[in-house]
Amino acid sequence: TFSLVQSILFRRQLLVIVNPVSGQGKGENLYKDQISPVFEDCGISVNVITTEYSGHAAKFISAADLKKFDGIVAVGGDGLVNEVVNGLRTRSDSQQALHLPLGVVATGSGNGLARSIASYYGESQGYRNNPVLYSALAVARGCVSPVNLAEVSLDGRTSFSFLSVGWGLLSDIDIESEVLRAVGEVRFVIWSFVRLAKFRRYNAELSYIPNDASGSINSRVIINDEFVSVYSTCQSHIGSDMLFAKDAKPFDNTLHLTILPSSTGRFAAANFLFKLLRGYGQHTEVDPVKYVKVKEFTIRCKDKIQGTLTVDGEQVTGEEITVKLCDTPLYMYCM
Ligand code: ADP
Ligand code: MG
Repeated sequence: TFSLVQSILFRRQLLVIVNPVSGQGKGENLYKDQISPVFEDCGISVNVITTEYSGHAAKFISAADLKKFDGIVAVGGDGLVNEVVNGLRTRSDSQQALHLPLGVVATGSGNGLARSIASYYGESQGYRNNPVLYSALAVARGCVSPVNLAEVSLDGRTSFSFLSVGWGLLSDIDIESEVLRAVGEVRFVIWSFVRLAKFRRYNAELSYIPNDASGSINSRVIINDEFVSVYSTCQSHIGSDMLFAKDAKPFDNTLHLTILPSSTGRFAAANFLFKLLRGYGQHTEVDPVKYVKVKEFTIRCKDKIQGTLTVDGEQVTGEEITVKLCDTPLYMYCM
């Protein structure tokens, strides 16, 4: 009887947000069939919200009464996590609310954060065998680890980004290939060929402050060029199968910035994409690709025809974007 009373008193209470359209529309069924039984068997109580439109999760989280919850779980892809995090950001009690443990159960087509968290703890194989079950178990287990978070300022509007900010070639491929969503991740390969055939460079000023491990103050580096691509991550993976920064650690206070300058020709860009898609993290070694660890950076676009700009894999529009690491992390459930 004592343990029964105990398990009722100390049950964890989670707020679960399900994106029913995540990952080709399987989110809701995956939740019912595979995820909810895990939480139930582990004695976790849940309040489930199924989103009805894009932006619903952010709106709900920004005003929800969170007092009774021990954590918030996003059942979806990186887009849903972005909504949850930015919903927390706009709350009047955001400082405390951002200390709540967050979980992500990978039912999306883009699951960079879930895969990164698994890989930090040497659990890539477990994740790859069954991403949904693996990430549901990580939430159920209840261990929490801090991960990097960045603040983005786009033409003066600010938001949080926990995954990536990109501009040019890679973001073009990511967004334009969405017309091929149905074929799965092969769309990146197909669209890489399309983009290499219609090879573009974009005029901009890129400036960044290098992250010096010794803690000394670094001066800003300014580059005016026609860039093929600029892409930064604060996690290791930008998709379930896409390693982007092999040195990234969960809370390393670093933005991993990869630059393809104007001297990058079609052949070098093809080599870069090939190595990126192969997944061993060797794309940053292709000449003349530049990889730098930075604390912050700014892209100021100078072209009328602009490259695609993405934050956490979703398209945004603007002329000037600044990305800065936050001092405070997100606290994520991990294995
Ligand atoms: P995926 O990884 O498959 O893209 P995400 O969870 O990242 O899945 O969601 C993709 C987009 O769907 C996000 O931009 C999110 O805002 C949006 N979204 C969330 N709920 C809904 C809904 N009920 N209907 C339509 N779009 C939604
Ligand atoms: Mg997405």
